[in-house]
Amino acid sequence: MKNTDTGTGPEIRALLRENIRNIVPYSTARDDCKVEMDVYLDANENPYESGVNRYPSPHQPELKKMLSVLKNVPEGKIFLGNGSDEPIDLVFRLFCPPGASSMVQIVPTYGMYSVAAAVNDVRVINSPLDEDFRLDAEALLSKVEPDTKVIFLCSPNNPSGNLLDRGEILKILDSFKGITVVDEAYIDFAASDSFTDVLDKYPRLIVLQTLSKAWGMAGLRIGLAIADEHVVDVMSRVKYPYNISVLNQKKAGELLSNPLEAYDRVSRIVSERQKLARELALCPGVEKVWPSDANFLLVGFSDKDRAFGELMRRGIIVRDRSSAYGCKGCLRITVGTAEENAKVLEVLRGSAADIAGTAPTGISDGDGCIDGQSPLSSRTSSCFRSTRETTICVRVDLDGFRPPRVATGLNFFNHMLEQIGYHAGIALDIICFGDTDTDDHHTVEDVAIALGDCLYSALGDKAGIGRYGFSLPMDEAEASVLMDLGGRIDFRWDVPFHGERVGDMSSQMFEHFFKSLTEHLKCNLHVRACGMNDHHVAEGVFKAFARALKMAVKKEEDGGRVPSSKGVL
Ligand SMILES: *Cc1c(COP(=O)(O)O)cnc(C)c1O
Repeated sequence: MKNTDTGTGPEIRALLRENIRNIVPYSTARDDCKVEMDVYLDANENPYESGVNRYPSPHQPELKKMLSVLKNVPEGKIFLGNGSDEPIDLVFRLFCPPGASSMVQIVPTYGMYSVAAAVNDVRVINSPLDEDFRLDAEALLSKVEPDTKVIFLCSPNNPSGNLLDRGEILKILDSFKGITVVDEAYIDFAASDSFTDVLDKYPRLIVLQTLSKAWGMAGLRIGLAIADEHVVDVMSRVKYPYNISVLNQKKAGELLSNPLEAYDRVSRIVSERQKLARELALCPGVEKVWPSDANFLLVGFSDKDRAFGELMRRGIIVRDRSSAYGCKGCLRITVGTAEENAKVLEVLRGSAADIAGTAPTGISDGDGCIDGQSPLSSRTSSCFRSTRETTICVRVDLDGFRPPRVATGLNFFNHMLEQIGYHAGIALDIICFGDTDTDDHHTVEDVAIALGDCLYSALGDKAGIGRYGFSLPMDEAEASVLMDLGGRIDFRWDVPFHGERVGDMSSQMFEHFFKSLTEHLKCNLHVRACGMNDHHVAEGVFKAFARALKMAVKKEEDGGRVPSSKGVL
């Protein structure tokens, strides 16, 4: 149990129900038994192996570690539940005395909040969004009563699909003294930052996320509450001890370890959403397609029963949300695969063949690419590398730029690797689950190796590239990087740091990073830098490296010749 007398402890404690405050959790036999034993005779389990004869880990440290890297929040701020349903229910159980408290929710919104409130005998106060489903903080706060313990917000909101205004949510966080829940089940489909980045400022904020939607694991029932450590601590004490099964933990770990596929599917769904929204707006009988930041569209029909019936007859089920506040005549349509969406459009255009399943799609909506994905250019490469110390996926596209996606569990390192993507103008994704609780060594080294290999392989035969790169002073710290991708390896480093660490990285790991990268990219790399501020020096080196890389990998307008008098690199 954590010491709740310091930091945010007293603040959270004061909000808890009396009976919850001092609850002593069921102590599981396996509770955080950190060392591996040979013989387990402590839990009355069946000793004969079946793959599931042992109790699962009660606090899921492996999963939390991965999610901490991916969500960029400390493990101690993550609670995992049996779906989001569990943390939703726990919020009431922790903070709302039955029969003597209320919660305020926006309407329309997700139905589970009011169901869980009813189960816990908590009064529900509805605060309507405006006609465009926008949140007005003042209006919501005016609904708060003396016994209101919790405010539920959902952003992007279900069923309206829109993000709530960040400024309005912040106003609520600034003035409401109870718990504010922001349900971000759909955040990965939105171009917006998560509220997890203001948790330190608002310990009474609970952010809900889930593996059910963007991560494609609805069947595993895993939901996240990301919150102040004290909230997580109490949730963990009150939950059922073994709330996530062995099989579900295992499968989630497998799927999370290669997140690039999930990211790709999200991009595909987002681009399908835009296309579907455009096309739906042109369908007869469609009156309004609401803008969406989620993986579904709220669509207003002149005759929603007819549309629902037509879709149903063709074997397509959508959600009738017409009874929800402000959603008269509306169906909620989840974005499916390109084929599924085409089928919806066919039916609504009245052009579908009559029998379900036999309709030839007939329409080619594609841009000449599969599933709406942009065609891959040839200079791409990806690699997946898993050792005892790290699991890494890296992907580069030398000819296409996208904002980089970097998650390594080391904040400063993330920031530096992002500089490479931005300043080299290449698409760069790097996810690394490493032993950062030991130190940063393996993570930094293995990322360098994987990145070097990946860049090398993306370069292919190097035909047409600039080959040389150089870069000169940047910012007030000077950094210069010279590069030759000719194939010989030579590494020089003249970069003095003043301190032992920069952010959460050790200073000596920068040299090690570029040395390993040089060996695997098979290049000449000469780096010099100096300056008063270590942060700026490191940043200058990464930016200068990125600039040099940009120049060296760039294809020149000379018909694809290999840039060497020997004709081969
Ligand atoms: C789908 C959804 C969830 C996720 O629920 P799980 O129990 O995690 O599957 C949470 N909140 C909202 C608003 C949703 O629409």
